[in-house]
Amino acid sequence: MFKSADIVIIGGGIIGTSIAYHLAQSGTKNIILLEKDLLGSGATGKAAGLTIRQWTTELDIALVNGSLEIYNGLPGIESAFRQTGLVYLASTSDDEKHLAQSELLIKKAGVEYRRWDKAAIKKNLPWMATDIFTAGLYTPEDGYIDPYQIVSAFASLARKKGVEFWEKTEAIAIDISNNKVRGIKTSQGYISSPCIINASGAWAKKVGAFAGLKLPLKPYRTQIAVLCQSGATATERRMAVLKPKHKLPNNFTAVYDMAKNVYFHEETGGLLLAGDGTTETEENPDQYKQRGDDKFLSEIADKISSLIPGMSEAGVAKSWAGLCMATPDRMPVLGPIKDLEGFWLAGGDNGYGFMRAGMLGKLLAEIMRGTKPSLNISLLSPERFAGKEYSGFRIKQGMTV
Ligand SMILES: Cc1cc2nc3c(=O)[nH]c(=O)nc-3n(C[C@H](O)[C@H](O)[C@H](O)COP(=O)(O)OP(=O)(O)OC[C@H]3O[C@@H](n4cnc5c(N)ncnc54)[C@H](O)[C@@H]3O)c2cc1C
Repeated sequence: MFKSADIVIIGGGIIGTSIAYHLAQSGTKNIILLEKDLLGSGATGKAAGLTIRQWTTELDIALVNGSLEIYNGLPGIESAFRQTGLVYLASTSDDEKHLAQSELLIKKAGVEYRRWDKAAIKKNLPWMATDIFTAGLYTPEDGYIDPYQIVSAFASLARKKGVEFWEKTEAIAIDISNNKVRGIKTSQGYISSPCIINASGAWAKKVGAFAGLKLPLKPYRTQIAVLCQSGATATERRMAVLKPKHKLPNNFTAVYDMAKNVYFHEETGGLLLAGDGTTETEENPDQYKQRGDDKFLSEIADKISSLIPGMSEAGVAKSWAGLCMATPDRMPVLGPIKDLEGFWLAGGDNGYGFMRAGMLGKLLAEIMRGTKPSLNISLLSPERFAGKEYSGFRIKQGMTV
């Protein structure tokens, strides 16, 4: 098969579909998106879906705020949202300083928030063991979203505008001559195109290498456990039925314990979904363990048991792992590769890509169409890494930088 396209997007996760949607909305035609598996089957389908407006850079806050506005404006996805509020809990003076810094910025950005002292923490989280916490920053508009529903909404709207989605189609080589992109070889044939966007998530380094690029990116693994009360039978776990002594309220506030580096929110069926910063080693995205490690599972169950008396001796109902992509400065990378005409990069999620992808797609569409970007994104340019050596950079995890 031989086809041609004005733009080929590699990757059908939240970033690729957001780009497709925004380009199509702004009138760009003849776009093909390639996904080697199914839309949303990469990190996006594995995300906890947390939305966090509490950041320590203005750009991050603007990316998240803007993305959530975009997601909220999509038709037919009301059931994707759980606006439970989210609280960051500090128990050390360093973490308190982090919260104070974040508070200054979110106040300036007009984000709704409340500062919780010890008494407010206790009052608002009566189901948790809260004595160790000294301060909390609560953002009532946060919570979590089903990422898959947002991907589907982007894809279906883009499809209506003519974008072609080629699932089960892998990009396998990039055709270049005279430092210009000419086309792409896929598992379904060749597509001639002057413009390729690498939005392949944890595979972005590998896909970059197809174009001869050495990108300062490192894929790493992060894990989630779904927990239930210990003592549940196998059937109860499978059916997600909990013991009556489980006392968590419905729609409880999503929590991030900064010292333990653990986050959790409610999961369907009265279960609890928990994750943390897990591995900090570079992974091969084509060969990684998709289930939680025993060490992670026992540690997270212990952490949750100590935080929530109603989950004492929590058991693991299921677990999974997915891949994120680290950059040296923990900021995303978005924009053209200067020395290779027609090649664009959108990635470097550093574990928080879902909540930023709406804006990343919008901003990329704006710069590709030559319009002024809605935010100053010079900090995200791939050029910031040009000519420097980063191979030894450390992968960092967790929600605090
Ligand atoms: C366990 C876990 C929990 C997370 N929790 C959160 C959270 O609470 N909040 C948050 O904001 N973020 C969270 N994240 C991060 C978030 O999931 C990612 O940042 C985001 O999904 C990245 O989107 P993406 O489109 O870049 O990548 P992906 O969703 O991985 O999409 C890339 C796609 O490219 C495809 N692809 C790769 N190579 C090729 C090729 N050669 N040809 C064709 N297709 C290709 C892949 O199959 C994949 O589907 C979490 C991640 C994990 C793993």
